Order: sequence, then C-alpha cells, then structure tokens
Amino acid sequence: MMNNKQSLNSRKRGRIVPFLDTPGSLLFLTSEISPFMKTGGLGDYSQALPPALLRAMEDGGEVRVFCPGFGGADKDPRLVRAGGPLKFETPWGEKTLRVLRSGKKGDAGDSQPSPVIDFLLVDDLFDRKGLYGESGQDYPDNFIRYFSWSLAVFAWMRETGFIPDVVHGNDWQTGMFFPLLRLRSMEDPSLSSIRTVFTIHNLAFKGLFPFELFSLTGFPDSWGGFDGLEYYGDLSMIKGGIVFSDYVTTVSPTYRNEVLSEPLGAGLSGALKYRGERFLGILNGIDNDIWNPSTDPMIEVPFSSAEHSGKDLDRKCLQGKGRFVLPDAPVIGCVTRMTPQKGIDLLLAGIEEWFSRKGSPFSFFLLGTGDPVLEKKARELESKYSGMVRAVIGFDEPLSHQIYAGSDFFIMPSRYEPCGLAQMYAMRYGSVPLVFPTGGLRDTVSDGVDGLWMSALSVEGVTDILDRALKIYRDKKAFLPLRRHAMEKNNSWEERTGEYLRLYKGLPSSVPGSGQDLLMARMALKM
Ligand code: ADP
Repeated sequence: MMNNKQSLNSRKRGRIVPFLDTPGSLLFLTSEISPFMKTGGLGDYSQALPPALLRAMEDGGEVRVFCPGFGGADKDPRLVRAGGPLKFETPWGEKTLRVLRSGKKGDAGDSQPSPVIDFLLVDDLFDRKGLYGESGQDYPDNFIRYFSWSLAVFAWMRETGFIPDVVHGNDWQTGMFFPLLRLRSMEDPSLSSIRTVFTIHNLAFKGLFPFELFSLTGFPDSWGGFDGLEYYGDLSMIKGGIVFSDYVTTVSPTYRNEVLSEPLGAGLSGALKYRGERFLGILNGIDNDIWNPSTDPMIEVPFSSAEHSGKDLDRKCLQGKGRFVLPDAPVIGCVTRMTPQKGIDLLLAGIEEWFSRKGSPFSFFLLGTGDPVLEKKARELESKYSGMVRAVIGFDEPLSHQIYAGSDFFIMPSRYEPCGLAQMYAMRYGSVPLVFPTGGLRDTVSDGVDGLWMSALSVEGVTDILDRALKIYRDKKAFLPLRRHAMEKNNSWEERTGEYLRLYKGLPSSVPGSGQDLLMARMALKM
C-alpha cells in the first residue's frame, strides 16, 4: 500500500481525468455571496458565476452553492428552512447543523434557472455581526469556525445524498474541505469520484493559524510538511486548497503570472509553481443584469451608452450628496476596502498634494472602510477640502452604485489586484477607470482606449494620472470615445464561463500562456 505522501504526490502528478460530461453536478463553496453577505469581490463572484455556469451547462446540469450562515440569517425573510438540526462530530465535540435555503427561484417573470443556495449554520459560530471579525480584529475562533464548516459540508452532502461530480471552493475559508475530502475518500469510495477546483481570490489572505492545531485535524503527519499545510511554522488554510485540489485557479492571467514569484506570491510562489499546468488564471466577469445602469433601481436616473443624458443627472445627485461646490468640475469616485493593497495611502497623499498645488479643480467622492489609520486620513482630507472632497466611511451598497453612476472617473491605484471588479462596474456605468496596471487591472483596462494607466505606483503617479485625466476631460473629442469604449466593453461572465467548464471536464485550457511556460518554469525549478 502507498503511504499517504506517495499517494498525494502520485495524484498531483497523475493524468488529467475527465471531470464531468453534461449533464453534471457542481457544488460551489464560498464564504460570501451577494446580496446576503459581502465584504468585497468574492461576494459578487459567488452571486454571478454559479448561475452563469448553470446557464452554460445547458440541459440537465445541476449547480448548488453552500455558504456559512450569517448574522441574522434566521430572521431573513428571503430564506426558508431546509434541514436540521443535524448532529455531526468535530474536534471540538458534537456540533449541530441547521440549513437555511435561498427560496429565490428567480424573480417573478424570470425564467432563468438559479442554483439552490444553502446556508449552513453551525451552532452559533456564524450568527455574528462580521464575517471574519469585527472592528479590524479577526475572530479568535476562525479556525474552529471554518474547519467545522467544512465538516458540516460533508454532513449536509451525506444527509441530502448529494455527491457532486465537481466541488469548486474559494479562498482560505473553504481550504480545509480539500484535505478532508482526500482523507474521507480513503474510507468512502463514493467520495473518490469527486473532482476539485480551488480558486484564489487574494493570496494575501492565507488563513494562518498556530500549527499546534494540526494535531486536531486528524490528517496524517505527512500532510503537515512544507509540501502540505505548513507555512513558515504556521498552519495555512489556503494551502489546503492549493495542495489538495485537482486544479488551482486565480482570477486573472496577469495575477497568475505575478504570484509565481515574490513578493506577490506572498510566500506561496513555490507551492503554486509546483502545481505547474494545473494552476490557471481565468479572468473574472461581472453580472451585466445586476450591474446595468439602464435598469439599476439603486441609481437615481437610468442611462446607457446610447442614451447617457441620465448620467448628467446622476452626477448632479452625487454632487449634492458630496455637498460639492464646483458644479462643472469632473467627479472622481473611489469605492474600496481601505487597505494598503488598494494604495489608498498614495491616493489620499496624491489628492492632498494636488489641491495644495492648486491644480485644476475636481471633486472626489470616496466610499470605503477598513484600516482605521486610513479612515482617519480620509476624514481629515474631507474636512480640509470640504466642498471638494467627501469621504463616507462605511459599507453602503446603494451609494456604491450611485458613485459608479455619478462619477466621470474611477480611481484604483492598487499595489496589486488579483482581478478587481470595481473597475469593470465603473466602466459599465461610464466612469473611466484610472488604474495602476497590475493583475486584473492590466487585463481589463486598455490604456488610452477605455481607461488610463498610471505610470508609477507613487504619490507622483497619482498626481500624474490626475493631470492626464483632467486634460482629457476638457477635450470632449478625447473623453467621450474613452467613456463610450468603457461602457461598451463586454466583461460579462457569459464570455468567460467556458474556461471553467473546460476545466471541470478536464479539457486542455485555452487560457493564453497557461501550459507550456509554466511547464518550463517547473522544469527550470528542478534544474
Ligand atoms: P476586493 O474584492 O479586493 O475588495 P473588488 O474590486 O474585486 O475588490 O470588489 C470590490 C467590491 O466590493 C465591489 O463590488 C465594490 O463596489 C464593493 N465595495 C468595496 N467597498 C465597498 C463599500 N465600502 N461599500 C459598498 N461596496 C463596496
């Protein structure tokens, strides 16, 4: 009999097994799903991709989504009871699972099929204010929460008799499912046919916990090494997905290339290189029905690229909300998690520098929350330049739509950006993106065609791009085509689901650069 390490390695190197022939079944695991719970792009991705996959799978395909419960889920009128209480074992004793289901089968008149979404509530582990923590502090029991949740996934699969062809998990919160599946497949042959895909949305979030917890997992010792779950002396949940899934993907081809070396590999570039041609970059899309300025109920006046007079009225509304005093000045918007990743420090310093130099006028509307130091700086900028700067600190979905609709430019000076959805929403709403060309920003914005690229990641880079944008804004012959191209760019999921389906079927990828060059990189590593 092979020891565990041998079987792990032989599986990693094994032949590519066909995943699913239509009809097939897919189980999608995620810790966020809009409009129920969202801290960033993962929530939108999980809301949009499973239905797009279901549509693309045509007749007979089945897509189900499992998420953790969330604060107040019990009282949410959109959900119905689907099962439980059900007891299951965890390293912390017996726990109780209850399941709530999204009753939505599509709005009235909507004939599109939608995936069933099950929210798995485990004791009181998820009925909290935050998803991962509160007031900038992670919950101290996050390992217990998400390890128990992965165990609950098995309990619910068993209870409902649902053995999918493919499980597609996302980010560290679902990472422990993959080694658990490997372990359980050894005892239960019905699980061994399940093929797996794991998607990384941001490698900076590695799900790190004290390594002592490894002894509770029940995994063989050999899975605790650097080629298993260990990460520089800690236990990393994201490595569960990276090491133990059949395929790993991330959310843009450029970010895939960037994380194969440091520093963007965040210490995991070696593990990713080892996955070779099994690590792909598949560009995210957006849901063009939800993010549609001609039907969006959250904005004041609808508009489209053919009829954009409504956009001027949306700008006026936003100018009112911002208490802006310069009616003719362009509005620059920003909707963001306020973290160093997003370059908010550079942005605030660049805007301050611009105003102190008395550069040409614009109004700046920021919506964000995150790092308390950055939040304070944003508030200070607002009070120093009131009438030109508005900083709303918080998470506000309707206001985010109003900023996309009412702004002329949308700025994202990200230090790195796995994909970024905000720039794609901005484009669809006619707000020209100003971006640092990293990761998915490079893959979705073309400089001078449908947006503008910063030439440097610095305060000067910010003031330079402001200068360029404001000059273009004054020249309508240059600005209007830029805006039209942005609005007409098709970033919809329909364009992109095919790549996931190919992967589920074990077909060779059509993603440029995903095969040969990685194979070469891997060979070079071995030399
Ligand atoms: P990330 O996932 O890294 O945060 P993305 O650009 O992929 O970045 O996705 C961000 C999503 O979160 C977008 O839908 C954006 O509108 C939304 N968002 C970010 N911050 C806020 C906020 N403070 N209020 C409302 N929506 C926000």
